[in-house]
Amino acid sequence: MPSLQQNQIECPFEKKFPSQLKRDDSFFMKLAYNAAIDAYRKNEVPIGAVMVRESEVIACAHNEVESTKDPTAHAEILAITQAANQIGDWRLSDCTLYVTKEPCPMCAGAAIMARIHRLVYAVPDPKMGFLGGALDISKTQSLNHHPQISRKVLEGDCKRLLSSFFQQKRMVAKEGS
Ligand SMILES: [Zn+2]
Repeated sequence: MPSLQQNQIECPFEKKFPSQLKRDDSFFMKLAYNAAIDAYRKNEVPIGAVMVRESEVIACAHNEVESTKDPTAHAEILAITQAANQIGDWRLSDCTLYVTKEPCPMCAGAAIMARIHRLVYAVPDPKMGFLGGALDISKTQSLNHHPQISRKVLEGDCKRLLSSFFQQKRMVAKEGS
């Protein structure tokens, strides 16, 4: 095994190369999955997000909390900011956000503030997920925007990425103690 620097971690998974011909939810989630692999390789919690408008990817990001030391540097927030810059409007009302894990309270809130039309996520999160896992913020009656939500697209693959990452981190922590 090649020796790794302290800030690196070996990712045992390969990126996916989906056919460009069928641009469905599975296709775009595979791109988010690939972004999550980039996070994994940088020793970041492997969560990836892509923003799609008219079947084109306008933003792609992964979690960067560790490298930036910024607790708001979640994949979804970065993708939302990129997308808004790209189209020159904070309203992303004709966009769909694909993310490999159910958004936390901050990201679910940001998706609503950005008026995202539709949000698709892979792995439900019963602890921190705010789009159905721990709570469903999109069901709040008083909100003036309710994004459409689709769940469990490519769930197995994205879940394996997360569990393997945390398992590896636990092993490293054990070896270090
Ligand atoms: Zn988040």
